[in-house]
Amino acid sequence: MSQIPFNRVHFTGGELDHIRRAVENWHISGDGPFTKQCQLFLEQALGVPRALLTTSCTDALEMTALLIDLQPGDEVIVPSFAFVSTANAYALRGARPVFCDIRPDTLNLDERKLEALISPATKAIVALHYAGVSCEMDRILEIAGRHGVKVIEDNAHGLFGTYKGKYLGTFGCMATQSFHETKNFSCGEGGAILINDAELIERAIVIREKGTDRSRFYRGLVDKYTWVDLGSSFLLSDVLSAFLWAQLEARNEIQAKRQRVWDYYMEHLSQSAAESGVRLPVVPAECTQPYHMFYLLLPTFESRQNLLAHLRREDIHGVFHYQPLHRSPMGVAFGGREGDCPESEDISRRILRLPFFSDLTEAEQSRVVES
Ligand SMILES: *Cc1c(COP(=O)(O)O)cnc(C)c1O
Repeated sequence: MSQIPFNRVHFTGGELDHIRRAVENWHISGDGPFTKQCQLFLEQALGVPRALLTTSCTDALEMTALLIDLQPGDEVIVPSFAFVSTANAYALRGARPVFCDIRPDTLNLDERKLEALISPATKAIVALHYAGVSCEMDRILEIAGRHGVKVIEDNAHGLFGTYKGKYLGTFGCMATQSFHETKNFSCGEGGAILINDAELIERAIVIREKGTDRSRFYRGLVDKYTWVDLGSSFLLSDVLSAFLWAQLEARNEIQAKRQRVWDYYMEHLSQSAAESGVRLPVVPAECTQPYHMFYLLLPTFESRQNLLAHLRREDIHGVFHYQPLHRSPMGVAFGGREGDCPESEDISRRILRLPFFSDLTEAEQSRVVES
C-alpha cells in the first residue's frame, strides 16, 4: 500500500515550457513578461485595481504593514487561530498583535468579539478567510469603518472564493495571496499583494522595489532613480512567475479537480461523521469557497490524536493545524494568556486536516474515507 501524502504539487504540464521561455527572454529577475501577465490576470479576474507579485504571502503581509505606516505602540487585531506571518508581519514594525477569537462554525475571526478589542491604538484588522471561506465581511467592514481602522485580508487560502458574489481579496484596502507549494495555485514560493485603495498603489510599487522610484524611472517619469521610502526586495523572479502562469492559466481545471475532491469527502463522510460526533466544514450560504482544504473537528483532543495515529498506521498523512498564536512563546510575550481565546484553543486541539490536493485520486480518497 503506497503512502497517501497530505499534499502533492499539481503540475499542469505547461510549467517547464514557460520557464524555458523566461530564460529565452533573457529576463529572469522580477517584473518581466510573466510577472506582468500574472498580475494582469489577477487584476482582471478579480477586478482589483492593482496586483503585484511578491516573493511570498509573508512578504506581501510585511508590505501591508509598511503601507499602513505602522509605528511602535500601534495595535493590529489578528485572529489567534492563524498562521505565524499573519501576526509577525506587524510585530516586525513594532506593533502589538491583539488576538481575537474565532467563530466556532467557519473558524474565522469572530466579528462579535471584535469591537471590544478596538482601542485608540488600533490601526488595522486582519481578516483571514480560513479554508477560503469568507469572514463576515459586511459586519467587519462596518465596525472598522466606524472606528477609522483599516481592514487587510489574509487571503492565502481564498483565491477565487466569494462573499455575497464578490471575490475575496477585494474587500479590504489590501489583501495578500500565497503561491506556496501547499496552496491551490503554486510556484513553490511566491505571493501577491492586491491593492484596492488606489491611493496606496504608487507607494506599494516603491516599497516592493527596495524603497526606490526605479519603476517611475523605467516609465520615463523621472530622470534618475533613488531611495525615496522604506522598502525591501519583494519581487518574484520571472522564472517563478512563468511557473505560476502555467497554473493560473489552468484555473478552471485546477478548481474543478479540487471541487471533486472536496465534494467526495463531504458526500462519503457525512453519515459517519454525524454518527460519531465529528463536525465537517461549514460554508455559509453567502459564501463560495475555492476548495482549499477539508478538515474534521473531532469531539475531543484524545479522539483527534487517536485518529491521526490510526491514519499514520494506514500510511495516510493527516495533519493538525494552527496552534493558537496567543499561546505561542511570542504571543505570551505580547500578553497572551490561556483562556483569552477559548474557541481557538479548543479548535486547535480537535481539528484534523485530511490529505487534500488537486490530483488526489478517487481510489486514494476511498482509502482515506474507509480509514
Ligand atoms: C500559507 C499562509 C501564509 C504564508 O504564505 P507564504 O507564501 O508561505 O509566506 C500566510 N497566511 C496564511 C493564512 C497561510 O495559509
